[in-house]
Amino acid sequence: MLHAVYHPIYSALPLPEHHRFPIHKYRLLYEHLLHQAVLKPDRLHQPRPLTLEEVAQVHCPDYVRQFAEGTLDPKAQRRLGFPWSPPLVERTLTACGGTLRTAELALDHGIACHLSGGYHHAHREFGSGFCVFNDLVLAAHLLLAQERVHRVLILDCDVHQGDGTARLCQGHPDIITCSLHCERNFPARKAQSHVDIPLDNGVDDQAYLTTLTELLPWLLNLYQPDLVLYDAGVDVHRDDALGYLCLSDQGLYQRDRAVFAAALERGIPVAAVIGGGYAKNHADLVPRHQQLFVAASDLLKERRHGTGHP
Ligand SMILES: [Zn+2]
Repeated sequence: MLHAVYHPIYSALPLPEHHRFPIHKYRLLYEHLLHQAVLKPDRLHQPRPLTLEEVAQVHCPDYVRQFAEGTLDPKAQRRLGFPWSPPLVERTLTACGGTLRTAELALDHGIACHLSGGYHHAHREFGSGFCVFNDLVLAAHLLLAQERVHRVLILDCDVHQGDGTARLCQGHPDIITCSLHCERNFPARKAQSHVDIPLDNGVDDQAYLTTLTELLPWLLNLYQPDLVLYDAGVDVHRDDALGYLCLSDQGLYQRDRAVFAAALERGIPVAAVIGGGYAKNHADLVPRHQQLFVAASDLLKERRHGTGHP
């Protein structure tokens, strides 16, 4: 059975009406997965918030302090995309702690999923695009510092390039970054990941899965990570409000399954985060994000029963 990480604070952030960030999707997804018995209460874990000291190991200490105190200048605050509030600070630190917890669970159980995470536009000295602190780099960094792992691959399949992740990991050979993204989308100025796969607008299931299934064996064999942090953003979906790709729900399932299977086949644990996904009606995002959990759960079941391929 799948281990997963969730905290009610993920959807408890007060935002102005009509704000474009889909704050309710976390709670809706959680309730749906429990209702469908994809998640079981005894396999659900509540994370602790990261401390400011932990965050300052990756981000600029002045940025961390100013965000925590609510003293960022208005331009920096606007760039985040969120109005500042004490719950924003608590939510941010808890979501980052959630990705760390998910990675720890993946190391113990092979696969684990986080019902948040994927804040890949957070840079060392500033945040942008709804990303305050980079949970992926923080989790990788903290586990490397504890010597629980020696090389981490951050595989980013969100439709937007993981520019913050790429810049934070430049010059760190023990964190490998790979981003598959829509070339003509935010951020306008791309960073350089170790491996970038820019995709044209309109790429569909078949084209996407062909690219991914060629990439995965090469990537995992070349870098041989001992942990994969997987950003399973669903803004690659054809109905997403901010993406320009054309994947279906089934395409998302196959994508997520391919990532889990390729890693598990090589004995590499995967910690997945849900990443981006945008729709006016937040409930529309639930069937898209649920594919990740169903794919993980199916693979675990098949392995336990010895019925399927890894
Ligand atoms: Zn995105």
